[in-house]
Amino acid sequence: MLLSTLVPLGLALLAGSPDPSLSPPPSAPLVRAAQEPAEDGSEEGLEEESTDAVEAPSEAAPQGDLVVPSSLEGLSLRIPEKERLAFVVELNMAVIGRMQVGSFVITARTEAYRSGLPTPGQAASKEPQKRKGFIRAQARGGYMGYTLQHSIDARILPQKWPRVIVRDYQSGTENRRREVMYGERQGKAMSWYRRDRHCEYCERREHFVKGRLFSEEHHCNGCKRGEHRDWDAPKMQQVPPGALDMISAIFLARELVRTQTEAVQFPLLDKDIWWDMTMVLGERASIEVPAGKFACQAVKLDPQPPKGEEGKEEFKGLFGIHGTLSIWLHAQTGVPVMIEGIVPIGPLDLDVAIKLAQYSDTDKAFTPVVEASAPANR
Ligand SMILES: [Zn+2]
Ligand SMILES: [Zn+2]
Repeated sequence: MLLSTLVPLGLALLAGSPDPSLSPPPSAPLVRAAQEPAEDGSEEGLEEESTDAVEAPSEAAPQGDLVVPSSLEGLSLRIPEKERLAFVVELNMAVIGRMQVGSFVITARTEAYRSGLPTPGQAASKEPQKRKGFIRAQARGGYMGYTLQHSIDARILPQKWPRVIVRDYQSGTENRRREVMYGERQGKAMSWYRRDRHCEYCERREHFVKGRLFSEEHHCNGCKRGEHRDWDAPKMQQVPPGALDMISAIFLARELVRTQTEAVQFPLLDKDIWWDMTMVLGERASIEVPAGKFACQAVKLDPQPPKGEEGKEEFKGLFGIHGTLSIWLHAQTGVPVMIEGIVPIGPLDLDVAIKLAQYSDTDKAFTPVVEASAPANR
């Protein structure tokens, strides 16, 4: 819910202060869980596979995009070897007009993949080096002591289980962690999900607060501190085959444009539930954003409750945008340029636009159109 968390911030910004805007990506993840699911699919505890150590730039020659086949005919996920896209988040409010409420950065890269460390005394396997994809979507902001860092990481692995690990961590004034893994286990499409919550009844004395007069010292009744969080029991379940998470869906939208695929349908996994997602190729238009003016084509994302569950709550996915959303992608390369949707705030539905402001290491063909009105260089 990146945007829904940015929104209170936006309202705070009504006071008129400039937003923190685009800051460089941190060199390390904002939050490291004490226990993260390991990439070999073992669920608990376990030695943390140091993905960051593996992330050290390799001296190997560039290998290009990582192409991961999807279950949709003719379509693959394509993870750039290295790419950074920085967006500004704008709310359009009646009377007040457009207001910048934060920044949103998507970085993608590929890394060497190791399925596990070789046992002592054994040489590392000589098989060709496999790669994994790493995508991070990160929203940030801050105002008057309220800070927000929300990061969603997706690791796409060259194995059946888990094939994808998504970690959704929010830190700052409020703290929350969610993790999803999915893939194929014993021939079945499965997902694993866990979330954390306030550790109301834990025994840690440092979480205890002084009672009032005559009452005893007791565990804090509820707070937003990151230290006062514990993982709930994970939930493993069977899911429809071919399901994708929201981050992967955005990268699939890029391929729709690149390959001119009219429409696709697939189950969209969100936490422990899924939606019937339809993505349709839309109109072409020239889209102007802070990074320039680009020749784009729209892809419309329309998530609906699965059959038999109509009337369920409306979809509120990755961005807190409800209902449908549109992504404008560069027609030639599929690079996302603008994302548009509606965010509900109290009784209001506000237009939100996420606009490309900076880009680096993108496909060479990704360039702004030359504007006719621009003075010619002589
Ligand atoms: Zn506690
Ligand atoms: Zn607490």
